Amino acid sequence: MYALKLELKLNNSERTRMARHAGYARFCYNLARTLYLGVMDIKVSRTRKIALIKKTFTNFIKKQPEYQWTNTLSSRVYQNAFRAFNNALERFLKGRGGFPNFKRKKSGDSFTVDSSNGPVFLRAGNRIKIPTMGTFRLKEAIGYNCCSQTFTISRTADKWYVSFTIKADKIPPLYHSVSETIGIDLGVSTFATLSDGTVYQLPNSLKKAKIKLGKLQYRNRNKQLGNRKLGIKASTNAQKFYRNQAKQHADIAQGRRDFLQKTTTEISQKYAHIRIEDLNISGMLANHKLASSVVDSGFYEFRRFLTYKSPIYGTVVELVDRWYPSSKTCSSCSHVQPMPLQARMFVCESCGNNCNRDLNAAINLASVPKDRVRMASPELTPVE
Ligand SMILES: [Zn+2]
Repeated sequence: MYALKLELKLNNSERTRMARHAGYARFCYNLARTLYLGVMDIKVSRTRKIALIKKTFTNFIKKQPEYQWTNTLSSRVYQNAFRAFNNALERFLKGRGGFPNFKRKKSGDSFTVDSSNGPVFLRAGNRIKIPTMGTFRLKEAIGYNCCSQTFTISRTADKWYVSFTIKADKIPPLYHSVSETIGIDLGVSTFATLSDGTVYQLPNSLKKAKIKLGKLQYRNRNKQLGNRKLGIKASTNAQKFYRNQAKQHADIAQGRRDFLQKTTTEISQKYAHIRIEDLNISGMLANHKLASSVVDSGFYEFRRFLTYKSPIYGTVVELVDRWYPSSKTCSSCSHVQPMPLQARMFVCESCGNNCNRDLNAAINLASVPKDRVRMASPELTPVE
């Protein structure tokens, strides 16, 4: 299983159509919630209740003149919206979440359609035929022929995406040009340093975009998006600012994801055996101050991408015990010495070895003893 998320290239009428379908999905989900509360105390199984609600919707509500508009939209939307509500309900009943909330417009636009008679064939190229919705242009092409059944269309800022999972082996078996173990050190000043000296730097455009966003936020620091309780309406300028801010946030996130995807694919294709530090990410995320820098720098996603790509490219990804002093050890004579955070060079007090801090750490990660290493397991699915 492999997930693809591709940006759609829509014209205005297509955008409107997508937004209407998203609204329809929201309407169905909320309707299912309301109707469910009405039948909650009836003594039949949950599956029966959901079936009952669905029947009421198709045979009664959809036929009312004020709901005629639902007949102009894809019927797979409501099927999937009911399914989504059922799944949310199941999570709630299993104690894995609260009772499903109403979906509100501000929680975003998205809807799911599927093909009711099995997977559909998707031809490689920059067009996609989405079941019951029609054919749309794509910003980037599908690279190979494949099949899929369920399609989710979603909006982030002003961009629309289609995502789906494919069952094909995406990449044919590969030959890695480097079979020796490679260590990767992740850092703030240099994003990734490999023990063979290769470095990956976050693109400058991304850094610039971040600075630009920071300035924009500072200049507009007093703008408020209204306050319903106090009856204050958002000004046109405030609305404009928030829209713009959302777009820039989305652009930066997309840019970072592109960079991480590209980098991890390149690494997974080239190196057969990869070792990275096992950052205590959940611990770091719990620490509020560190959290934003960890999420922001993409360490977490970098590790996640490398791990989920390992079965696809046939790489071995190992995590090094996070207490292993990779930056304090000399990569030449194994002497351990204190290493101040700001020092960029490792100068060994014992053998005089002089090495870049990140490179020294990366070499140590590559040659770490076996008992301080564990296999990384792809605990997360590749779906964004
Ligand atoms: Zn040394």
